[in-house]
Amino acid sequence: MKIAKTIKEVREIVSEWKKLGLSVGLVPTMGYLHEGHQSLIRCSNENDRTVVSVFVNPIQFGPNEDFASYPRDLERDTKKCEEAGADLIFAPEASEMYAEDFSSFVDMTGPTDELCGLRRPGHFRGVCTVVSKLFNIVTPDRAYFGQKDAQQLAVIRRMVRDLSFGIEIVGCPIVREEDGLAKSSRNTYLSADERKAAVVISKSLKAGQEMIEKGETDTAKIIASITAMIESEPLAKIDYIKAVDADSIEPVDTVSGRILFAAAVYIGKTRLIDNFIAERN
Ligand code: AMP
Repeated sequence: MKIAKTIKEVREIVSEWKKLGLSVGLVPTMGYLHEGHQSLIRCSNENDRTVVSVFVNPIQFGPNEDFASYPRDLERDTKKCEEAGADLIFAPEASEMYAEDFSSFVDMTGPTDELCGLRRPGHFRGVCTVVSKLFNIVTPDRAYFGQKDAQQLAVIRRMVRDLSFGIEIVGCPIVREEDGLAKSSRNTYLSADERKAAVVISKSLKAGQEMIEKGETDTAKIIASITAMIESEPLAKIDYIKAVDADSIEPVDTVSGRILFAAAVYIGKTRLIDNFIAERN
């Protein structure tokens, strides 16, 4: 497994592949890879070559967030990439991505105004900026993002359309632990008790999904039921639970079209997100 630390190395390798007419997939990650990331790499194996970026992007973290403590282990990530069939890891230092006088950002209004965009000011500006850089560095044919970060997927799709990146964005399903908890690098922060408590997030969302299957279309009622279930768990504290249009991320009152039910919940000090999409015409 080749690990490139510089932009120049990636450009050289990818340009050789392109000369051979090979297609290239990109899987952007912050590392500490798990089966969720590996599922994206496996999706990307539909391309001739797959690049995985491993970069804990400082500019998408707020001042009181977990940038410093975010888990990092490139050796472990390398094995996970090999297992899943990636061809190249791009693991730059922050200084390779951001010059000291770095001053250009990609920003958005609309899909970033709600959910995590509202609760984590500047987060999506950081995400859009780093993903734009990765697109320019790797020049992939396709890029793979998890439905786990549903708002991020909607934001990236909008950015690619608006800025004419000419890259196909592929969304991949959420990979879960056996008890339903969505896999996340941040799950490593949880104590044993918190880990047990965290299952309330996926359980409550599943109960909400079942209400819709039984015919409920009032998003306020569904959100109230999800909220009550989460509030019954003493270690959980809700950051938000909302129903929004899955593409525009605008709040909705009725389940009609593709509706994203998204939750952000603190379990102890760890902020976890999860969601489901309901489709009804
Ligand atoms: P991260 O390293 O957390 O920034 O995630 C990198 C990519 O992996 C993003 O596109 C995430 O949506 C995706 N991802 C993270 N966790 C999961 C999961 N449990 N299932 C599917 N995709 C995931």
